[in-house]
Amino acid sequence: MLYIDGEWRGSHSGSSFEVTNPATGDPIGDVAAGDRQDASAAILAASVAFNGWSRITAFERSEYLHRAYHLMIERKEVLARLMTEEQGKPLKAARNEVQYAADFFLWYAEEAKRIYGEILPAPRSDQRFMVLRQPVGVVAAITPWNYPVSMITRKVAPALAAGCTIVVKPAEQTPLCAMEVFNVIHDAGIPAGVANLVPTADPGPIGDEFVTNPQVAKLTFTGSTEVGTMLAARAAGAMKRLSLELGGHAPFIVFDDADPSYAAKGASLVKFLNTGQACISPNRMYVHKSIAEPFTEVLEERVGRMRAGNGLEEGISIGPLVDAASLEKVDRQVKDAIAKGAVVRTGGERLLADGLDRGFFYAPTVLSRVNRDMEIYSNETFGPVAPVIEFDNEAEVLALANDTRYGLAAYVYTQNLGRAMRMFEGLDYGIVGINDINPTAAAAPFGGVKHSGLGREGGREGIAEFLETKLGGFSI
Ligand code: NAP
Repeated sequence: MLYIDGEWRGSHSGSSFEVTNPATGDPIGDVAAGDRQDASAAILAASVAFNGWSRITAFERSEYLHRAYHLMIERKEVLARLMTEEQGKPLKAARNEVQYAADFFLWYAEEAKRIYGEILPAPRSDQRFMVLRQPVGVVAAITPWNYPVSMITRKVAPALAAGCTIVVKPAEQTPLCAMEVFNVIHDAGIPAGVANLVPTADPGPIGDEFVTNPQVAKLTFTGSTEVGTMLAARAAGAMKRLSLELGGHAPFIVFDDADPSYAAKGASLVKFLNTGQACISPNRMYVHKSIAEPFTEVLEERVGRMRAGNGLEEGISIGPLVDAASLEKVDRQVKDAIAKGAVVRTGGERLLADGLDRGFFYAPTVLSRVNRDMEIYSNETFGPVAPVIEFDNEAEVLALANDTRYGLAAYVYTQNLGRAMRMFEGLDYGIVGINDINPTAAAAPFGGVKHSGLGREGGREGIAEFLETKLGGFSI
């Protein structure tokens, strides 16, 4: 269903699309398919609602967001189960995501009250300068399937806190999760038109409307670098504000002063989270050649024990890939690596036994002897494959890690304080985890440099993306 102007409705064309469970291939829902006309209606509703929403006090907006937070926490289990069915991640990871998603409501409920202006020194004695921060206006948001709840709240919560209104187009694989988020928004009493949802199976025309409709002040997009760059170019032509959270190709660097077992444990936990389908998933494991073997042995052993299956079952840590195209991409990258000399330490094939052939399962895989000629070395994998590459020294690995168009997340394992600081400063990435595999939280700025994006979500920075700065000069 579409959620426009405070009401659930069908699409104006009457068409719908099927949603399936990627673990079983079973249909789990049928969702109204919005089109350009529906997007335009949603933008109009958001535009009309902007006047009222931007003028109520920050304290009132904060109250609504607090209510949304509590409702989402109350519904954590329902949302998590739906997420596992629709997107495939194991239930425990789904619960974690719902908590992370709710945290954005809570954090921005508070940040709403801290949108401060400034009084500046003016050059003339009869002059005063005042700076106001005001909401940019109507926001159009496009979100991906891999974190189908938190990628929505990471945009909606700061936009609403800032006084903006919003129209969200969720990914076509996960509209049911998006609808549950909007049930929370509706039940929190957020006024009609303030937040709107337009699911679709045909994103092009809705993207066209978002980047051309003059009532849209800003586009915020999370997804692939290719689609984000294309939309950004068009939105910039219409002078729309932009925030982009795009692809990544994270290095995971283990120095010879680190404990290889501890680093391998970290690698096994972060790499296989969400079956490798995360923008901050490590894609290149650079390990000092003197500890490459002990590191790889521990990684192989840990990964070899992981069980793939339906995430609703106990003990499952590897869910399915989201669709056949993702499975094909992972398989192609692994085959290419093997053909060019990589060694499969564990995994390396599609999983078909015990009913897994009904879903898109790929065995959690560790490859050693990976080199720069292999496709997996330079392209985002978005799957459960850990490629291990050996290196010699700090300067070399820093140059290798930075030798990519991406710049989202990087990870470093070292016990040397000076080296930790040099790597933190030298890595061209928006997020660096030093002996830390989870450098994310609602309170922290998340985002990339280079082709990984523009702007930040979360933290103090996240709300600034939805505010304009206005200078007042007063002659007294
Ligand atoms: P995608 O193909 O770019 O899709 C992302 C969103 O864009 C979906 O809602 C999609 O709709 C929509 N879209 C596609 N073509 C469009 C068009 N012409 N006009 C308007 N919207 C359009 O990316 P994905 O494969 O779903 O997501 C994975 C990518 O997202 C990875 O590269 C990952 O690194 C990145 N990601 C980044 C972050 C971050 O914070 N930096 C977080 C999560 C994911 P449909 O679903 O209908 O195709």
